Amino acid sequence: MIMADKRDYYEILGVSKNANNDELKKAYRKLALQHHPDKGGGKESEAKFKEINEAYSVLSDPEKRKAYDQFGHSGPFGAGNGGFNQQYQQYGGFNGQNINFDFSDLGGFGDIFETFFGGGGNSRSRQQNRGSDIEAEIRIDFREAVFGAEKDFKILKNNRCDRCKGDGSEPGTGQKTCPTCQGKGQVQSQSRTIFGTFAQTAICPECHGKGKISEKKCSKCGGNGRIKEQVTVKVKIPAGIDDGQSIRINGQGEAAEYGGVAGDLYLRMRVIPDKRFERDGFDIMSNSEISFPQAALGTNVEVETVDGKVILKVPAGTQSGKVFRLSNHGVPRLSGKNRGDHLVTVLVKTPTNISRKQKKLLEEFDSDKSWF
Ligand SMILES: [Zn+2]
Ligand SMILES: [Zn+2]
Repeated sequence: MIMADKRDYYEILGVSKNANNDELKKAYRKLALQHHPDKGGGKESEAKFKEINEAYSVLSDPEKRKAYDQFGHSGPFGAGNGGFNQQYQQYGGFNGQNINFDFSDLGGFGDIFETFFGGGGNSRSRQQNRGSDIEAEIRIDFREAVFGAEKDFKILKNNRCDRCKGDGSEPGTGQKTCPTCQGKGQVQSQSRTIFGTFAQTAICPECHGKGKISEKKCSKCGGNGRIKEQVTVKVKIPAGIDDGQSIRINGQGEAAEYGGVAGDLYLRMRVIPDKRFERDGFDIMSNSEISFPQAALGTNVEVETVDGKVILKVPAGTQSGKVFRLSNHGVPRLSGKNRGDHLVTVLVKTPTNISRKQKKLLEEFDSDKSWF
């Protein structure tokens, strides 16, 4: 079972990850017509229709699709409550237009009703097992968050058995028709309720819907197709990601039992603070101390940025707390187009522990307050 809030957009539209625009459009039309609220399908239909629209609005937009492929539902925008679009919008990633779809060219609803009610429910009978998604945290340092990184992430999970390649049969042995379901993959059972007796169809517990079982179970995994082990996942962390945001790594969740599809791995970033820098969105901030005469006379200050040392020209008469902007030395935006800035707060240090001579000079300086 897939959680409602994490349903894959491709899955919603029933298309492959490589589907082109025409395929997407076709799938969307078909589903949108099936579940269009005008057809009186009630709440369930309405929810479905919304879901279909959301999936299509993301996948039909190349930029959003790219972000979705890379980050999934939850990132790069963190685990907000809004949907993908809403979060994407908050980040100014697109102009927020809604898609409108013209139904008028489809020649009425007649044929659609037929498809909808005619076929019966066979299409889902061969539903594949899917492994669970995994959520985990990864620690990265400040620079890795700024510039991106490739990391090895070790995780203990149910992994696909390498001996049987996940199908649970001992290599070299054959398969036979499942005796429980006689190869149908399904079993019927009857349940009695106050409304009467209902026939229910369920996936066969013996062959797990495949209709066949192995003659000999895999000696490594005992036939369930997966084993718990520590694996190293190569993780590509995109430049610009921030603490608390997650990325999705397709197919690196738990392996499915009996050779189904693996779940996804959601990795939440934990950025180790750097005492030199603070981060605010795509800007990086730091402080630089200068002396009180430097502030009065002007000076050049070496500022440490994520790109190395940069010279900041501090003009004469600079007050303590003044913020200077070093353009383009901040965090790359996730869109990859440009970067934030580095903001330097200049702090003027008040002299302490001064010598007798310095004291005299300061007193002399202070006797003329015409500058004040
Ligand atoms: Zn095995
Ligand atoms: Zn069976």
